[in-house]
Amino acid sequence: MTTDAHPLDLPVGDPFGPDNLPYGLGTTVEDPDRPRIVVRYGDSVLDVGPAAEAFGSPHADLLQRPLLNPLLAAGRSVWQSVRAQLHDWLTSPAHRATAERFMRPLSEVTLRMPFEVADYVDFYASEHHATNVGRIFRPDGDALTPNWKHLPIGYHGRAGTVVVSGTPVVRPQGQRKPPHEDAPLFGPSRRLDIEAEVGFVVGAPSAQGEPVPMSGFRDHVFGVTLLNDWSARDIQAWEYVPLGPFLGKSFATSVSPWITPLDALDAARTAPPARDVPLLPYLDDAVEPEPGGIDLRITVALNGHTIAEPPFSAMYWTAAQQLAHMTVNGASLRTGDLYASGTVSGPEPAQRGSLLELTWGGKEPLELPDGTRAFLEDGDEVTLTAWAPGPAGRIGMGEVTGRIHAARR
Ligand code: MN
Repeated sequence: MTTDAHPLDLPVGDPFGPDNLPYGLGTTVEDPDRPRIVVRYGDSVLDVGPAAEAFGSPHADLLQRPLLNPLLAAGRSVWQSVRAQLHDWLTSPAHRATAERFMRPLSEVTLRMPFEVADYVDFYASEHHATNVGRIFRPDGDALTPNWKHLPIGYHGRAGTVVVSGTPVVRPQGQRKPPHEDAPLFGPSRRLDIEAEVGFVVGAPSAQGEPVPMSGFRDHVFGVTLLNDWSARDIQAWEYVPLGPFLGKSFATSVSPWITPLDALDAARTAPPARDVPLLPYLDDAVEPEPGGIDLRITVALNGHTIAEPPFSAMYWTAAQQLAHMTVNGASLRTGDLYASGTVSGPEPAQRGSLLELTWGGKEPLELPDGTRAFLEDGDEVTLTAWAPGPAGRIGMGEVTGRIHAARR
């Protein structure tokens, strides 16, 4: 990091420049018990609450809360107003002297979970991922289940174990039943995996009984974050029939400390893959005014080595379709709901977002500079990063990282 550059002078095209402005929550060494809303700008953050007070913002009260939830609940018109103000404070020469009083180096801020998660849902929206998993687990059957192209498959996960990037992930224990054993065994998972995903953070709530259509996506979804859906494949394989994922997933889900506003990804919107079966009207996005896909380029690194580059643009089901499906039965949205895309995998082998796929069920271990890997070992660290095309250069997504700690015996 350069130390003598002015925090408000960013190189053109900086991935955390004025077109991005992701939100986080952090503490400082002098005030460790008072979380404050921060917005990333280059390698610095703006301490948003006191800045808003100094600038006389009508939203200063919301921005001085110790959590993002009140801002999330305020709705799209407030999100747009705050974003316009932040852009003005950080880029207008007239505001420079005031703004710089509230800037501090990112390295001096301890980031924490930026919002309280209400409900958590995880989908299964990559056709490439679902096809690979189907071939691995059901080699003699159809790769995709009969419902796959008619609805975005999902399950309700565990909100209370969503953790911020950097939180250690303790290897889960549980039941597994190897094919050659007559009875299940108990112990630490031997097939601990990642799932590279994109999470969507719900801001504005909805009323129970009233479905939210695809066109309500921008009114309800505040922003986007990178997410790692840690998965114990051996626990999952034994427990998932007939009700789906449970303890193989619920021990930890990691998210980036940065929430990228949906509006920062406008230039990255792109058409999803062509639909090859007709969709019911509430999911038929051919008539939507804006394309539902997002061109996010993800990188998965294991102990610093890139192991995959999954393209989010390849996802079959879009976040707007997932929102519509999640509420079509009348289920309500709450502020702080988090729903994740499902593992992002592209068509190429190097674009697969899980070790399960990258090593084909563990049969083809990865050769890394520091050893071979089928699944994660204690001490391994996995980091997801991503960027999207912006109006001028890249929009950077905040990374999500986590290290595996040994099981508690
Ligand atoms: Mn998942």
